[in-house]
Amino acid sequence: MQKNWVSGFPRIGEQRELKKALEAYWSGKSDFESVETTAKTLKKRHWKYQKESGIDYISCNDFSLYDTMLDMAVTLGAIPQRFAHLQDEKLYFAMARGTQDAVAMEMTKWFNTNYHYIVPELSPADSYKLDATKIINEYKEAKEAGITPKINIIGPLTFLALSKRVDRGDTFELYDKILPVYAEMLKVIGTLDDTVVVQIDEPIFVKDVTPKELSLIKPTYEKLCNAAPNVKVAIQTYFESAVEAAKVFVHTPIWAIGLDFVYGEENLEVLEELAKSDKVLIAGVIDGRNIWKSDIEKKKELLEQIAQKFPKERIIVATSCSLLHVPYTLKYEEKMNSEIKSWLSYALEKLDELSLLSKLFFDAKLNEIEQALLASNQAACQSRKNSTLIHDKKVQERVQKIDKWERAERFEDRIKVQHEVLRYKPLATTTIGSFPQTQEVRQARRDYKSGAITEEQYKQKMREYIDECVACQEECGLEILVHGEPERNDMVEYFGEQLKGYGFSQNGWVQSYGSRCVKPPFIYGDISRPKPMTVEWITYAQSKTEKVMKGMLTGPVTILNWSFVRDDMPRSEVSKQIALAIADEVDDLQKAGIKIIQVDEAAFKEGYPLKNSKIPEYESWAVRDFKLAVSPAYKQTQIHTHMCYSEFNDIIKTIEAMDADVISIETARSGNELLKVFAKSDYKQEVGPGVYDIHSPRIPSVGEIVTQIKLLLEVLPKEQLWINPDCGLKTRKWEEVIPSLKNMVEAAKKVRGTFH
Ligand code: GLN
Ligand code: ZN
Repeated sequence: MQKNWVSGFPRIGEQRELKKALEAYWSGKSDFESVETTAKTLKKRHWKYQKESGIDYISCNDFSLYDTMLDMAVTLGAIPQRFAHLQDEKLYFAMARGTQDAVAMEMTKWFNTNYHYIVPELSPADSYKLDATKIINEYKEAKEAGITPKINIIGPLTFLALSKRVDRGDTFELYDKILPVYAEMLKVIGTLDDTVVVQIDEPIFVKDVTPKELSLIKPTYEKLCNAAPNVKVAIQTYFESAVEAAKVFVHTPIWAIGLDFVYGEENLEVLEELAKSDKVLIAGVIDGRNIWKSDIEKKKELLEQIAQKFPKERIIVATSCSLLHVPYTLKYEEKMNSEIKSWLSYALEKLDELSLLSKLFFDAKLNEIEQALLASNQAACQSRKNSTLIHDKKVQERVQKIDKWERAERFEDRIKVQHEVLRYKPLATTTIGSFPQTQEVRQARRDYKSGAITEEQYKQKMREYIDECVACQEECGLEILVHGEPERNDMVEYFGEQLKGYGFSQNGWVQSYGSRCVKPPFIYGDISRPKPMTVEWITYAQSKTEKVMKGMLTGPVTILNWSFVRDDMPRSEVSKQIALAIADEVDDLQKAGIKIIQVDEAAFKEGYPLKNSKIPEYESWAVRDFKLAVSPAYKQTQIHTHMCYSEFNDIIKTIEAMDADVISIETARSGNELLKVFAKSDYKQEVGPGVYDIHSPRIPSVGEIVTQIKLLLEVLPKEQLWINPDCGLKTRKWEEVIPSLKNMVEAAKKVRGTFH
């Protein structure tokens, strides 16, 4: 009897082989054949790993050269017109990345992860047609490798819900065109073997589902299951509970349903109802999204709790979601503190956990090797509970004793004093923080890290960059200056490296989209700031100018949302500790004479829960901790924040409640339509809507920016408006930045000239 299940495996390769192969091909350095060879090797290797670990249900078609949503669009023949003349890999990569004359398809966040998928584009004029080549090939490849795989596909309801219509219509209107192609697909799958297991991902049902989506479950899955009676359909959900949908799925002919018991505790409530049916339960209990070692005994208890409500013989033990969201293997982590390393588990280690857990749960009798594994697992969990690396009394006591959660004065009173001190005019000009990260700057950071240059030499190079940066801003005529952030490789990593309780991996790469990977730092212990993190740079920069120098920090919520976070404490508590560390930095900066401090919350929106009912809780601590981070600010210290979005419609009151004196946002690409919400909601603080797009190398003209500012003035009064680019300039070149900023300053002056 088969008992354990992995929902999906990462594909980029443990040494990022696929990334390298793709990028070599894209840049013309190799041909497509070498990409295919790499892909084959990786698939084989990943199947082998899973088989050797004792995994029963192993996937195929979880592999992708770019993205599985894109794969599904191609399988269904959902090809936007502008790519219709292309074929095969040319077509595929054009859809993902665009060509000279066809823009790439849109990309967006996959639920609440940092993975991004390609958004399928549908049009009522299209007709769809099955191309099951990839599915068939991967199935055969797996068979050749000695595996009888399950086949992973994205379900029709999730596909429709996450697609967009070019004419902005409702994608579900195309249901009648799409569903027959899915039915056809299942028929084809049914011809591959005597019986075939298909994992159909329908994660859309963990969000707040509409009655329409729910009502489609029955007709859809009746049709799909009947299309091929020898195909066993397993519905897979993840990242949250799917109680409502599960109640409907029981009444369809599916074989199994996968529920997440790590991030969807509420799923426990639906078990009794599921038990009454004949369905199999795929119980996601091994965390597929975080890097901590599972406490196997605890996981066994969870399974027993499930088994009290649901027959044990119909349970399959599984990962909570695809392992796509964690790095590959700890075997390349050579530099990591060995105690910390013993607490971690990446994809490969999770396979072993899953295998051991299912053994323990179903058989109870472990052999000697397994017993040793279990003992070492328990020892690691015990060490994590007590380690002084994690538990810092001082931090815990400080958190207990917080008595000042926010600034003492109201915005209305602060802003008056700030205007007296800072004396800036309406339409004050500034930038978001970073300036071009040149080859030289990157090299200097690398050399310092590797020990090739001394600390003093490194600092000298950074100071030279800051000098240039200040001189450039003065030449451009900007009013509020920044130091340019040359010392930062990344806005989270820079702070993480200086905070106690933060860890870094050497090879902890996770796919973000396409060939792009990120290596998130991880929070393992109580967070504190041993010493100031930015004060030396910012005060140096201030000493080089008469103008006001804006200090630059990353906010607690963003630091949290872009890290792997410890799972032995609520996120809201971790966030609070980070906020205290940032608060110390705010205080040190102002004491050192810095009058404006920007606390970036670029990833504030990333942390939003999938279910609306959970939003108020998130917002309450996220806002609390931003305010806590800036709570030491004197009334005359002006606090700015920056966010990389323009969609504030739903959250404007929350943004206002963060109580920053000034917020800069990303509006350049979306026009000022979205800005109206600031006016409509009587938003009182000052706002800097980006007046030009920094994502493009294009230099905006004075005229264009004047027009943009005038549009902004139709929405917000001049007293409330700041003028700035829409994000940091680090990815741009100096040749682009200087003329753009000059034009921006010139445009602000021109518009000011029209005021009386
Ligand atoms: N201060 C940061 C910078 O300018 C902000 C980056 C961001 O918003 N992502 O680079
Ligand atoms: Zn930004």
